[in-house]
Amino acid sequence: TTQIVLARRPQGAVTSDCFRLERPALPALGDNQILVRTLYLSLDPYMRPRMTELRSYTPPFELDQPLTGGAVAEVLESRNPKFAAGNIVTGMLNWATHQVHDGRGLRKVERDAAPLSAHLGILGMPGFTAWHGMLRMGQPKAGETVFVSAATGAVGQLAGQLAKLQGARVVGCAGDDAKCGYATSALGYDACFNHRTETDYGAVLDRLCPDGIDVDFENVGGAIFHAVFARMKNFGRMVMCGAISEYQDSKPQPGPEKMFTIVQRRLRIEGFIVSDHMAGMGAFVTEVGALLKAGKIHHRETVVEGLEQAPTAFIGLLKGENFGKLVVKVG
Ligand code: NDP
Repeated sequence: TTQIVLARRPQGAVTSDCFRLERPALPALGDNQILVRTLYLSLDPYMRPRMTELRSYTPPFELDQPLTGGAVAEVLESRNPKFAAGNIVTGMLNWATHQVHDGRGLRKVERDAAPLSAHLGILGMPGFTAWHGMLRMGQPKAGETVFVSAATGAVGQLAGQLAKLQGARVVGCAGDDAKCGYATSALGYDACFNHRTETDYGAVLDRLCPDGIDVDFENVGGAIFHAVFARMKNFGRMVMCGAISEYQDSKPQPGPEKMFTIVQRRLRIEGFIVSDHMAGMGAFVTEVGALLKAGKIHHRETVVEGLEQAPTAFIGLLKGENFGKLVVKVG
């Protein structure tokens, strides 16, 4: 097999020498084991905190061991009664072209129900994150103003569209003009600003959300989050999904000014980790799968070819080089 291991832990920005490509021989298949060939590998922001030793909500990656992530794979051989050669499975797998696995935590998916990469994006973990965070936590109502940062990313693109379907006015920000154009033309955002060229975040939010913000779907953190916080309306909800702008900081950044705002405006600020809510996954797939089929939801992916490209693509993800859900086509 070809696999990528964690060669060293990053200090500040991730660099390519944090990864090493290896070609070990695979062990023979034991009882209850399966041999799988990876088809698609998901690259996700949460992998960055896992590269450090700091305790996060998922345990750190181990040095000199393959990194792991969400993947779609084909079963090539099986000595496990739950799987047969030819099955397509999804779950956590190594950054590897092939591996021997005990099948635990892998779920079979239909080969033709949706493009296979969709199980890692719009119908997978990021889509479910958007659905749970926006609908169950943010609960936007018709006429309310919703703000989504990283508006066209894997999570943001669905979060914004779901808020639109509830009748809200939706404003986002993204890292270049092409992403902002896609947000307003294809995804239905009412407005989207380029956070790299319009850097007076307070001024641009005052212009695009003149009455304030009812729901913040927070993906980015840092200065954008602070400007949004100051503009939340009474009884506003801040859905704390991520803070990607802070993941590579070697020194923690200070929080927003004037925390008494939370009391004055009766804000609800709530963090969540999607894996705590997996009971809702079935309802999500049914609902969003139907919206997708009916053409009511759009989505976009960046597909990178070849496992050996995964480190560069991952480094790019942390700089905004992906446009939509980032996946690696392995097989
Ligand atoms: P995306 O597809 O949105 O990719 C990351 C995007 O973040 C980049 O494309 C870029 O978009 C933006 N970005 C990167 N660096 C910066 C920066 N320094 N400042 C501002 N923006 C930056 O990733 P996901 O949709 O998978 O994840 C979005 C967020 O959701 C992340 O914070 C992630 O950790 C979080 N998340 C949380 C989960 C949970 O359970 N709580 C589950 C899944 C994701 P742009 O070019 O537009 O700036």
